[in-house]
Amino acid sequence: MTNLHTAGLVLLTVAASLCMAPAGSSADDFADQRQKMVAWQIGARGISDASVLKAMATVPRHRFVPEDMEHLAYRDSPLPIGHGQTISQPYIVALMSQLLAVQPGQRVLEIGTGSGYQAAVLAEMGVLVFTIEIVPELGRQAVGVLDALGYDNVRVKIGDGYKGWPEHAPFDAIIVTCAPTRIPKPLTEQLAEGGRMVIPSGEKYDQQLFLLTKQKGKIKQEKIVDVRFVPMVDERGKTY
Ligand code: SAH
Repeated sequence: MTNLHTAGLVLLTVAASLCMAPAGSSADDFADQRQKMVAWQIGARGISDASVLKAMATVPRHRFVPEDMEHLAYRDSPLPIGHGQTISQPYIVALMSQLLAVQPGQRVLEIGTGSGYQAAVLAEMGVLVFTIEIVPELGRQAVGVLDALGYDNVRVKIGDGYKGWPEHAPFDAIIVTCAPTRIPKPLTEQLAEGGRMVIPSGEKYDQQLFLLTKQKGKIKQEKIVDVRFVPMVDERGKTY
């Protein structure tokens, strides 16, 4: 009986904390859709990291999609964000964020800023985010949205993320949201000892999501799930 009671209290606490969000992001027209997204698409599929669930219940995803697509922002799918690019499906954002297993205060490198949504989710989890986007217009737009929402723990750079961001290395975690055919060496080199990297890799339409961990300088690689990401390209548009 006592146990049941405690479990009930814990559930209530989680529910309450999921509903609490900083001013400006909770009191919007989409709060209800956002809670349902977290419960049905993410929690129900086994994502259990409380900081991921809380961040995704807080970040206003509709602010990161084109205005005429706001009403689709909480759907169980990726969405186009212009320039042939997409914002990832909410579940994939949650899965990748959970795999990173970050602690507040850590430093995370993201390759492929896109809309800035994934960066905002990580920022909400309390890490310092360094994110690189190769399409200048997308990078600038992401800066605008992240600034407007007050995420001052995200640094955005326009450029080719294949080379990483050596000035700020090493990183406790690296997340790549575009797919190279092979894992970029500069990125594994910029991963801290004990660090984790989540990266899709493979040929077009035949990619896997990998979790890489660095232990005593050696990289261990684990296949997680089949995925489909846009390719990682160089400044001339050629796929890596
Ligand atoms: N994380 C994003 C989704 C990004 S889609 C979000 O939350 O919205 C993948 C992004 O990777 C695209 O914006 C694409 O332009 C970018 N990209 C592709 N190759 C890149 C490279 N070499 N360096 C940096 N960004 C790259």
